[in-house]
Amino acid sequence: MSEPSTVPTPDRTLVIVKPDGVARGLTGEVLRRVEAKGYRVVRLEMRRATPDELARHYAEHEGKPFYQPLVDFMLSGPVVLAVVEGHGVVPGFRSLAGATDPTAAAPGTIRGDLGRDWGLKVQQNIVHGSDSAESAARETAIWFGADA
Ligand code: UDP
Repeated sequence: MSEPSTVPTPDRTLVIVKPDGVARGLTGEVLRRVEAKGYRVVRLEMRRATPDELARHYAEHEGKPFYQPLVDFMLSGPVVLAVVEGHGVVPGFRSLAGATDPTAAAPGTIRGDLGRDWGLKVQQNIVHGSDSAESAARETAIWFGADA
């Protein structure tokens, strides 16, 4: 039996730059903020999401009024998918992202600084970040496969 590792497994989260963020050329700015905080991008991919991936990713929201518009929006252009590691990165990235509604998001956050405040729908809030370690593992498997 091998000795248990003394190096803890780093925390992980799943970040998505949504189609509005990619279309506005904000991918670099989002990743810059992630890296400036000291987190590490360990997987990175730009592509279009599939309806199946989105149905699984947003399963908890199925049936809500914003569900189908959200899925349609996420299919409207390429997304950038990133697995990000770092100590406390799950709540840490959500702090970087800011409140769900860019109109309410605090200055200094991605959504607060970069969200456009002229009546856009809440769905167009630039980024997604997992809300728990369990969600991060589930979402990483959806987008990058079970071995990611
Ligand atoms: N969303 C929306 N309308 C709402 C609430 C959420 O369009 O009233 C979208 C928005 O893009 C949000 C996503 O659904 O980022 C997932 O919602 P959640 O409450 O999980 O917000 P998040 O964790 O992304 O801040």
